[in-house]
Amino acid sequence: MHIPLRMCVVCREHKPTEELMRITHNVKTDKPEPDINGKNTGRGAYICKSAECIKKARKKHVAERHLGCSASETLYDELEGLL
Ligand SMILES: [Zn+2]
Repeated sequence: MHIPLRMCVVCREHKPTEELMRITHNVKTDKPEPDINGKNTGRGAYICKSAECIKKARKKHVAERHLGCSASETLYDELEGLL
């Protein structure tokens, strides 16, 4: 069976989507937000469901670099809350 893999933008490992979370660019607010139910459209980036990758994502400003919009202070806290 073929399992679709997506790349974590932090550690660049390819993983099945259930091991990743997605953040998407909300065009209405022009802010990145967690795609909680997988229904968000638009540009997205995947990050591992791991505290380590979220910590690095925060440090490397992954949302800005990959989605082209600045993250709110709470974005990475929200992601940590989803673990
Ligand atoms: Zn990762």
